[in-house]
Amino acid sequence: MLQQDAVAQFRGQFRGELIEPGDARYEDARQVYNHMISRKPRLIAQCADVADVMAAIGFGRANEMRVSVRGGGHNAGGLGVCDDGLVIDLAPMRYVHVDPASKTVRVGGGCRWGDVDHAAHAFGLAVPSGIIATTGVGGLTLGGGMGHLTRKYGLTIDNLLSADVVLADGSFVVASAEENRDLFWAIRGGGGNFGVVTSFLFQGHPVHTVCAGPMLWELDQAADIMKWYREFIVEAPEEINGFFAVMTVPPGPPFPEALHFRKMCAIVWCYTGSMEQANEILGPVRSYRRPAFELFAPMPFPMLQGMFDGLYPPGLQWYWKGDFFKELSDDAIALHLRHAAKLPTMLSAMHLYPVNGAAHNVGNSETPYSYRDAVWSQVIVGVDPDPANSALITGWAKDYFEALHPYGAGGGYINFMMEEGEDRIRATYRGNYDRLSAIKAKYDPGNFFNVNQNIRPSEE
Ligand SMILES: Cc1cc2nc3c(=O)[nH]c(=O)nc-3n(C[C@H](O)[C@H](O)[C@H](O)COP(=O)(O)OP(=O)(O)OC[C@H]3O[C@@H](n4cnc5c(N)ncnc54)[C@H](O)[C@@H]3O)c2cc1C
Repeated sequence: MLQQDAVAQFRGQFRGELIEPGDARYEDARQVYNHMISRKPRLIAQCADVADVMAAIGFGRANEMRVSVRGGGHNAGGLGVCDDGLVIDLAPMRYVHVDPASKTVRVGGGCRWGDVDHAAHAFGLAVPSGIIATTGVGGLTLGGGMGHLTRKYGLTIDNLLSADVVLADGSFVVASAEENRDLFWAIRGGGGNFGVVTSFLFQGHPVHTVCAGPMLWELDQAADIMKWYREFIVEAPEEINGFFAVMTVPPGPPFPEALHFRKMCAIVWCYTGSMEQANEILGPVRSYRRPAFELFAPMPFPMLQGMFDGLYPPGLQWYWKGDFFKELSDDAIALHLRHAAKLPTMLSAMHLYPVNGAAHNVGNSETPYSYRDAVWSQVIVGVDPDPANSALITGWAKDYFEALHPYGAGGGYINFMMEEGEDRIRATYRGNYDRLSAIKAKYDPGNFFNVNQNIRPSEE
């Protein structure tokens, strides 16, 4: 039982804010993006700086507390928070420094991707991330990171140059290709298992205006579009990225009223070249099956990154399932169509993110992310604002996942999973699990950081 005088003493060492049950800010501070998760921590330590993170780790150890680390709070399973324990919340550490000379971007551990997109864009740069700007940099990066620039510049981890890490014993280290190389390997896909990353250094790339946006087709054309897409995306130039989706058209602009609430399929494109070249590349699909609607236009990269933020505000109910795929067979396509026709709510969706192109330039064991041979990372999300629909969205996502899973590559992207247990984590890391486990034993032998997709420390 945590003693009140221990908390009072901790306050004296701590620069940020310490929030306890009963405090005015507690209800707000304990929330995560997915409102299917509701956890009640004993203490939330909103850290102002690295010294606060060190102090919080020391406090958690001294008081034998369960500890979770919160970056952007977007995790599917709500792994940024824990019941009855200590939350090390990095939210106040939201700075971004761009070095235009080296084209590198230094990012505080509590940043959201929108912070990075905004700051880097002013210098004509971008860092590969995901497709939603409100997602945290911390969790997304440590799990891999896939999005609109993956085919051109690889996963987010492929663009990580170094990280500042506070370890389980409270010490501070730098992990990079030059220092603590084993730790640097482990954090590029191994999640929050090895320490608290207080700062990330990324390589930026010259991306400013992209030609981007969705094309939509009726579901009765989805099989043809998927068959076209499965060929296209393995041959296409790396400058073009396109993720495939089954979705329901939202009832508002820019979508024409005739399409509102229709279940459709879509490809959301991002091309880093000119509009003229983009039209040349996408001409064949337009003439093969004319989209029922498209919003493909030149736009600043941050605009694309924020395109879906309004549709998916924090506070919805989410149920997630993820899997990797090497191919998209005719049988699998037929199953996709069957489950797409049953989309249970307006916000529920299935996305297939291409994880090929530049992401394939790195070998399966060069980083913990072991599915470099997969072509797609599939995510199925049951989403709705109403908690009364949680069984409905969960059931749909599970059924859809189970139908397609036999066609999958074996594991799934760690950041698209809720809590699925150790077998699934091992299936995801494949041959890299034992090495991760040995590095965990070196840097966190007592498994202090265990509120995550947990890698157990190997035994001596
Ligand atoms: C709407 C939505 C869209 C998404 N789209 C994409 C996408 O396009 N591409 C993609 O790759 N992923 C995507 N994701 C998944 C996303 O990568 C994960 O949810 C990720 O865990 C979010 O990171 P976070 O920092 O916000 O999470 P948190 O909930 O804060 O933390 C998640 C985990 O990471 C650990 N962690 C976070 N920050 C740190 C840190 N600084 N140091 C140590 N450990 C840390 C935590 O301990 C926890 O275990 C999406 C998620 C959502 C909700």
